[in-house]
Amino acid sequence: MAKILDGKAAAVEVRSEVASEVASLKEQGLPVRLDVVLVGEDPASVTYVASKERDSEEVGIESRVHRFPADVAQEDLAALVEALNKDEAVSGFFIQLPLPDGLDAMPLISSIDPSRDVDGLSPESAGRLTVGLPSLLPCTPHGVVQLLKRNDIEISGQDAVVIGRSNLVGKPLVQLLLRENATVTVCHSRTRDLPEVARRADILVVAAGRREMVGAEHVKEGAAVVDVGIHRKEEGGLVGDVRFDEVEPKAAWISPVPGGVGPMTRAMLLHNTVTAAQMRQQG
Ligand code: NAD
Repeated sequence: MAKILDGKAAAVEVRSEVASEVASLKEQGLPVRLDVVLVGEDPASVTYVASKERDSEEVGIESRVHRFPADVAQEDLAALVEALNKDEAVSGFFIQLPLPDGLDAMPLISSIDPSRDVDGLSPESAGRLTVGLPSLLPCTPHGVVQLLKRNDIEISGQDAVVIGRSNLVGKPLVQLLLRENATVTVCHSRTRDLPEVARRADILVVAAGRREMVGAEHVKEGAAVVDVGIHRKEEGGLVGDVRFDEVEPKAAWISPVPGGVGPMTRAMLLHNTVTAAQMRQQG
């Protein structure tokens, strides 16, 4: 029977660390502020932004949401990014994705000052991570590594297999696991014999975005399995990329959905915001 990688519990720890760092900055007269750019009224985006506002408030981070209609001009968003880059009151900011059709996210994300890029998704942040320079780390992959470390799971020297190569999750996770001295294999939709490759993993992270794709045949006895996937079930509730009931008896550790990577992603955004404020303070 696997032990549970409890993302809710680890996120409580991260949030309490963040809250005390925010309080200490405040005492020095440096309030921490997170700004969000929200375009259109996609219900999922509106819900995510509301929960990020609530999370911020809980740890003492101020938040501001810049709302735009779906037909806003690209130049107006570019002008806002420039203004936020220069605003000394803003510790960090991000653009809630995806943007509505007709808007191009990449040029906007590319123009975010890396020291305020709390999503860690700009090409400069990605490059800094790759070459080992200090940078703000993308929240989901950082959350995955923190979930492993906070459960005392050895990463150094282990065989890690990442399923998925997106810019949001898979690629930065590969870099983070390499930085932790794992031997990393990355799989994707063209990988031949995925079960065979995945079974080499001491640490298997699944971020394929395919509902319940990974089963017992993909997992080595005693592996740590982290499920990044999130899928809404028709009957309500959430499910991941991993068939939990089938994998759990074989794994040593497994993260549930919900209650695994999701809460860690949210917590790491708060962590990044206070880190951005501290970086600014230290010049
Ligand atoms: P994506 O669709 O951008 O990337 C999926 C990757 O998986 C691709 O690189 C693709 O090559 C690979 N893939 C797809 N099918 C495959 C297959 N059959 N075999 C092997 N590889 C395959 O998705 P993403 O943005 O990286 O997100 C992945 C999942 O994680 C989604 O379910 C998403 O909702 C979820 N997610 C969760 C969080 C969180 O906080 N828990 C955050 C971000 C994303």
